Amino acid sequence: MSTGNLIVDLDAVVANWRALDGMTGGAETAAVVKADAYGLGAGRVARALARAGCKRFFVAMAEEGAVLRQALGPDVEICIFSGHMRGDTDMIGDLSLTPMLNSLDQLTRQFEALPGAPFGIQLDTGMNRLGMEWNEWAAVAQVALEQGPSLVMSHLACADEPDHPMNAYQLDVFHQMTDGINVPRSLSATGGILLGSKYHFDITRPGIGLYGGLPFEGAHLVASLDLPVVQMRELDAGEVVGYGNSWQAERPTRLATVAAGYADGLLRSLSGKATLWHGDQPVPLVGRVSMDLLTIDVTDLREVPESLQILGPHQTVDQLADIAGTIGYEILTSLGARYQRRYITR
Ligand SMILES: *Cc1c(COP(=O)(O)O)cnc(C)c1O
Repeated sequence: MSTGNLIVDLDAVVANWRALDGMTGGAETAAVVKADAYGLGAGRVARALARAGCKRFFVAMAEEGAVLRQALGPDVEICIFSGHMRGDTDMIGDLSLTPMLNSLDQLTRQFEALPGAPFGIQLDTGMNRLGMEWNEWAAVAQVALEQGPSLVMSHLACADEPDHPMNAYQLDVFHQMTDGINVPRSLSATGGILLGSKYHFDITRPGIGLYGGLPFEGAHLVASLDLPVVQMRELDAGEVVGYGNSWQAERPTRLATVAAGYADGLLRSLSGKATLWHGDQPVPLVGRVSMDLLTIDVTDLREVPESLQILGPHQTVDQLADIAGTIGYEILTSLGARYQRRYITR
């Protein structure tokens, strides 16, 4: 078998959820499982969290919500960030999804097509991405509140920078837009939880922190990725490796070719820069990342490896992201469909 092994520690996901939950006193901690739980498998991740007591899940699109409903059954709330889009009415109604309505158009669509069905409200407090702005909200708030939304939410643009003045600004705007209404409020994702109790309100919505990523520094490791060695070869000094001949051996070199490439989310910008691991020993990626293969200099290993690790205790998603010039979120959500995902619990 030449597919990589992506090992997802479900106990670590649950431990991260509990740790974030423990930071917020009385607030409810939901879970964001959009984009297939950041690439790790929404069904398995969400079932583990539901067993641990999570009652509310967020996804980006109604289609994701439909898949999640099949996995979780009827007893949890599944909220849709993109709200109620044209064409989604049957899915939202039949599967009792909760759209986060983000415009007057969506509000009208919801109340006409699915009167009495659950919904939430999304407000824009300055990020200018999703949600109703002040004027729009002022015009419809009374009508919307009469229909009994299950929550009112907004999203912070700079929560991963605790000192950024945008945080306090958005907090203030959120208060002004929602103080005095009798509906549960939600402002914070992982970063907002770490900003402290003023940001917690009634419901928090962590995503990346559940999966072991920054800004949650204390997170448990969730994802490990082992790549099988397909072939070994011996190079003489002076021989070259890979597309563009971008690496040349300076010494007699033992090279391992492993099965994963940029089609599996190991970004081409890792070429010539990344490190893989054999147990505790680092081994450098040499030459370019190809679509399905990486070439690794294993000259300094004592034995011939069967596989090498690219994510694990020695290299987190954020460390790999740094090397690639991106963020942990992008590394996780790029992890491809070809890996064998194995779920472990202890
Ligand atoms: C993705 C997302 C989240 C989760 O954010 P993390 O930074 O991964 O915790 C929460 N709320 C909204 C609106 C989102 O789009």
